[in-house]
Amino acid sequence: MANITRMQLLRGDIKGKNNPFRPPWAIPEEYFVDFCTRCDKCVEACFDELIVKGRGGFPQMDFNRGGCDFCGDCLNVCETSALKKIPINNVESTLAPKNISSNNREEASDLESYLPPWHIKANIDLTNCLSMNATICRSCGESCDDKAITFDLKLGGIAEPKLNIEQCTGCGACFAVCPVHVITLTPIVLSNESATSQEASGI
Ligand code: SF4
Ligand code: SF4
Ligand code: SF4
Repeated sequence: MANITRMQLLRGDIKGKNNPFRPPWAIPEEYFVDFCTRCDKCVEACFDELIVKGRGGFPQMDFNRGGCDFCGDCLNVCETSALKKIPINNVESTLAPKNISSNNREEASDLESYLPPWHIKANIDLTNCLSMNATICRSCGESCDDKAITFDLKLGGIAEPKLNIEQCTGCGACFAVCPVHVITLTPIVLSNESATSQEASGI
């Protein structure tokens, strides 16, 4: 198995780059492909049918179908710890290969905090955004339950979408609704390295 470095964890790139978007709470890709048995239980559990069978039979997100509400149904049915909550204060130990499968069903302590289900952020390319080109559109903002997208009114009928990265959970709800496909979803990289654009495009 490949090793995952502390820096890779800290920079939020625990899923690695150039990989499909796995279901929420997926362990790092290097381990995911070892621990996932391709049982399809997470695919079947997703009420909104956002998880699909991807390359090699492994599950992946299809954001063309909508956004994830992090209900946890996929996490709850995964028996192999391929989907697993990672305590913030115990990342390296939890992800040590010998420990990964040990406590998937452990109840969360009220005091325990976990890494977010994934490290994905939306991005809006304003150049071709309808709202920036004097056409009324608020689709992305209306789809964002986290209110991460607001609009700044400008002269000339322009309303500029503003994305609050801190508030964005990477749920993907804004992705499919944009009529001109100017929204992308990207894994965040917290170091100096630039993120490889990993545009969500389904399977
Ligand atoms: S439920 Fe777990 S083991 Fe089964 S396909 Fe989904 S991630 Fe893989
Ligand atoms: S801006 Fe972020 S939180 Fe809001 S809908 Fe898009 S992906 Fe989800
Ligand atoms: S949905 Fe797309 S076109 Fe409409 S305002 Fe948002 S980014 Fe612009």
